[in-house]
Amino acid sequence: MRLDSLRIRLTLWFGGLTLTGVLAAGAYVGSIATDELKTIAGHRLEAAAGSAAALLSENLRERQQEIQLLAQGPLFTDGDLSGGDVRRILDMRKAAHGAYAWIGVTDQTGRILQATDGILTGQNAEQRPWFQSGRTGNFFGDIHEAVMLAKLLPQPTSGQPLRFIDIATPVRTRDGALRGVLSAHAPWEWVTDTVASAVRGPLSGTRAEVILATQNGTILYPYSLVGTEQAPAVPEQGYREMVWPDGASYLTAAVQVDTGPASSVVWHVIVRQPRADAVAPVQALIQKLLGLGALGVALSALIVYRLALRLSRPIEHLAATARSIEEQDRIPETFPALQGPAEIRQLNTAFRSMAESLLKREHDLASLNASLETLVAERTAELEKANQELQRLATHDALTGVLNRRRFDSIGAEQFALFQRSGITFTILLVDADHFKTVNDTYGHQAGDRVLQTLAGLLLANIRTCDSLARYGGEEFVLLLPETPARPDGTSLAERLCALVAETPFPDIGRMTISIGLSQALLTDTSIADTIGRADTALYDAKRAGRNRAMAG
Ligand code: GH3
Ligand code: MG
Ligand code: MG
Repeated sequence: MRLDSLRIRLTLWFGGLTLTGVLAAGAYVGSIATDELKTIAGHRLEAAAGSAAALLSENLRERQQEIQLLAQGPLFTDGDLSGGDVRRILDMRKAAHGAYAWIGVTDQTGRILQATDGILTGQNAEQRPWFQSGRTGNFFGDIHEAVMLAKLLPQPTSGQPLRFIDIATPVRTRDGALRGVLSAHAPWEWVTDTVASAVRGPLSGTRAEVILATQNGTILYPYSLVGTEQAPAVPEQGYREMVWPDGASYLTAAVQVDTGPASSVVWHVIVRQPRADAVAPVQALIQKLLGLGALGVALSALIVYRLALRLSRPIEHLAATARSIEEQDRIPETFPALQGPAEIRQLNTAFRSMAESLLKREHDLASLNASLETLVAERTAELEKANQELQRLATHDALTGVLNRRRFDSIGAEQFALFQRSGITFTILLVDADHFKTVNDTYGHQAGDRVLQTLAGLLLANIRTCDSLARYGGEEFVLLLPETPARPDGTSLAERLCALVAETPFPDIGRMTISIGLSQALLTDTSIADTIGRADTALYDAKRAGRNRAMAG
């Protein structure tokens, strides 16, 4: 299957377009859904942080009020601060709920007069901040590790160090004179449990976590982050997407905790949720969308492929038929009847009639070509024959068939040139019929012609193939005998010819004779005309000497 075929191209194009559409829609829906989810998650974090901060503020205020009210009770304003009643009240208060790990009351100097479970009773808290601040007014102290209590209270099961927040208030007489300081230590777990319980519901099912941090970002809770991480500058209100020191991106909301009018402590309840967690449903949605999209892409590609197949298959059949016509030079017996759209069927019909007409034309042309070739061959042969005839006519005498005078002139000139170069001489014989006028006069001109033909045949039959015989004019013939260095050569032949003619009976006339004049080419000759001239003189001599003889010149 070729990659540039119609079906693959269409499939890739439509598959690609569908895929692009699906990806674009996925990206668009994803971005809208992500923004929406982030808003929802952000508001939830904001609400959770707000309600945790509110609950913690409420609880802290209640505890502070509780201690202040306790200190204003008659037992503390007027009673014996080191008495058993004070101890009982303190124990009862501690037992009422888990907010207090320790409650104690000091005298003016910081000596602890009574305390829950009698712990630290008699010891001096003069240096403790809660005592120093608690003498002058209500005090709320930030988280700290237990200095005095650590060894005396049961250790928490979490393995974390015992840490507390302190609440203190002055104990005064009805007149307002300072009697001592009432202080309570709330375990840090109480604070964090309050915060954790407030967000547990709203944040359930998410990976959001609640963090307590100071103004400058020091994390107080959870313990796993204490000392390892610093909270970034959190938003005053609302929520923000922020990168935390661990490098991850979180949706973060923060609300400041109101720790009461007497407090300089600033805490923030921060709730953060990993961005990925917040937008995880979008990922799932996008994955589902992409899955559906992939299905859509595959389906559309399949449909387009099948559609394209309906188009391309008939075309491929047509191409195969075209190739087969090209190779075999004929229309197949069963020309395929193509299925498919009307256009394809029309194309097939048109193609078939075009192929038939083209082939017919080609065959017509081929046969025309063949007949033309035959005609040309015939005409060429005729022409050659005519040429040969022309050649023969140009070089031969029409009556006798021997060479004509023009041809003889050129042979003679060549022979003379050869003689001049080689020095090998040749002989010329001029043959003249005796009293031929009388023959004509007696037997008629046509009989004379026949005699001339017979005479030429007789001469031709008795010379060598290398000798040349030509009609020199009228009843005269000339013979050129090449390479005749010795004189007797030409003479003996001339005498033999004279004798032969004289002995031969001629049609119509019976006997006749010839006279021959012969001469050999001489180096003194300037042309063959000189040689022929001597032969002519010799012939004249032979005539005068009585004819029927040969004489050399
Ligand atoms: P001689 O022995 O002296 O040669 O006598 P002759 O009669 O042969 O010589 P002459 O030159 O007087 O006559 C030649 C004759 O040959 C004259 C001419 O009519 C005849 N003749 C020349 N050419 C032809 C030809 O082609 N056909 C015929 N039938 N006769 C020819
Ligand atoms: Mg003559
Ligand atoms: Mg003659």
